[in-house]
Order: sequence, then structure tokens, then C-alpha cells
Amino acid sequence: MNYVTLNNGVKMPQLGFGVYQIPDSPECEQNVLEAIEAGYRSFDTAAGYLNEGSVGRAIAKSGVLREELFITTKLWIQDASYEAAKKAFQNSLKQLGVEYIDLYLIHQPFGDYYGAWRALEELYKEGSIRAIGVCNFEPDRLLDLILNSEIKPAINQVEIHPFFQQKELKALAKEYDVQLEAWGPFAEGKYGIFTNEVLSKIAKKHGKTVGQVVLRWHMQSGVVTIPKSVHKERMVENFNIWDFELDAEDMADIESLDTGHSEIINFHDIETIKFLVGAKIHD
Ligand code: NAP
Repeated sequence: MNYVTLNNGVKMPQLGFGVYQIPDSPECEQNVLEAIEAGYRSFDTAAGYLNEGSVGRAIAKSGVLREELFITTKLWIQDASYEAAKKAFQNSLKQLGVEYIDLYLIHQPFGDYYGAWRALEELYKEGSIRAIGVCNFEPDRLLDLILNSEIKPAINQVEIHPFFQQKELKALAKEYDVQLEAWGPFAEGKYGIFTNEVLSKIAKKHGKTVGQVVLRWHMQSGVVTIPKSVHKERMVENFNIWDFELDAEDMADIESLDTGHSEIINFHDIETIKFLVGAKIHD
């Protein structure tokens, strides 16, 4: 496993496991246990996924020491304010059955996220969170938060994959030492990613799968990522990416696939913003 060192010195596995769209259920628990068996130690959940309970139960059952795990969860938009963030954080701890969170992220760049950030800064200073960060912050909002906060975000978790490479954000993150983390590393299966000609050719050349090539590209681009799968064989496949290397030509060919925009979500779309701002996960 490769590790990245965040801007506060905390080490984070570069490859983890995401649980978005896996309903809170014995199956989710089983998926996380299988991922632990496959070797994953970093897990990405969110209050908004409503499955922190399953992740917590799997962690407890696994018998793996807490300090060997890296747990990420996120503050939902409904709780994006100082007071609500403090309360939501306690609830996430309870759901996950842990005493601290490794990485706590503001899930969306909407609402009173500055108030929420102040709450995260305090929780970080108290030692309840090892690193704090954000998700889905485009370059302007990320820079504004960096310039107006005591503690700058350690992570910005955003959509990144070969078809949406986020080059402007990558440059800004590098300049200000904010680690980028890719959600949707496989573009959630869109853009015909798993049968793409360029990726398939590279996969064949290395005797690997398209999924492995894509994850290797994320690793060699210096990005952290958290692929999701409910299939054990794919969890194993996605974890087995350390025995080959993409060369300069492969990297350039993948770079040429960038479309510069997302087919998954558009944070400038008014209907999307209205939907997110109104999305409640509790009373
Ligand atoms: P993703 O990881 O890009 O793609 C998951 C899809 O790819 C699933 O349909 C999965 O199918 C399939 N898949 C996985 N491995 C495969 C393989 N080796 N071969 C073929 N198909 C494969 O999408 P994601 O779940 O949206 O993103 C990953 C994680 O990022 C999430 O789980 C979540 O933790 C996080 N995330 C964060 C945000 C945010 O706003 N911060 C947004 C979205 C996601 P099966 O499950 O059927 O195998």
C-alpha cells in the first residue's frame, strides 16, 4: 500500500474503499468485512449515505485494531452550520461506534459551511478528528476557504476520473498543499469506461484489467481514491495494482481522454443545487 502524507503530517492510505449507494444492511456490513479481508484499511462513508451503522458494525466485527484503520465520514448539507455540525459529528461517532474520526469532510459547498468549518477546526484541535477537509469544492471556493481559515483543508474530495481530470483544481491543490481525493474513480461506470478502447489497449499491454489501469493512473497522478464494489472479486482486483506501472505514453494516452466536464453531477445546475439544499437525512 502507498500512503500520502497530508498537510498536517497525518498518513493516509492512497487506496481505500467507498460505500456510497450500499444501503445500510447486513450486505453492507458483509461488503466492508470482505474489503477488510481483501486488504483495505481506509473506508469512506458519510452521514448522507445512511450506512455509517453498517460500516461501524463491520469494523467492530473485523477485529482489526482501530489505529490500523483510516475512517472517513462526512457532514451532510443539512448540518452545514456551527451548532449543527457539532451535533452531527457526535452522531457520526455514535453510528460508527468509534471515539475519533480520521478524516471528517464537509460534503457539499453549500449552506453555512464557514460556520461548519469553525466547528471542524475546534473538533480537530480537541483531537476528535485527525484531519479535516471538504468535498466538491471547485477552485474558487477552495481558495476562498484556504485564505479565510485558520486551518486549511487537508483534503478536497471531488469527482476525478479519466474523462474528468480536474486539471485546474489539481494545479491549485498542488500550489496550496491540499491533497485531492477522487470520488467516482471509475466515473460510476459511465462514459463506457470499462470498454473504452484506449484503456482496454493499455490494460492488454500490461496484462491487467481496465479497472486496474484506471486505479493505477489515479495512484501515479498522486490522487487518493476509494473505489466502490459490492463484489468480492472486484474488491480484490481493485486492490491488486501494485505490481505494474504505467509508462509515459500510457499516461499521455489517458490524459487525452479528458472531456473537462462531468456527466455525473453539475454543481452549477440550479435544479441540482435546489435538490441538494433541500435534501434532509433527519428531522
Ligand atoms: P465508482 O467507484 O467510480 O464506481 C463504482 C461502480 O463501478 C459500481 O457500479 C461498481 O459495481 C463498479 N465497479 C467497481 N469495480 C469494478 C471493476 N473492477 N470492474 C467493473 N466494474 C467495477 O463510483 P462511486 O461509488 O460513486 O465512487 C467511489 C466512492 O466515492 C463512493 O463509494 C463514495 O465513498 C465516494 N463518493 C463521494 C462523493 C462525494 O460527494 N464526496 C460522491 C460520490 C462518491 P459493483 O458494485 O456492482 O461491483
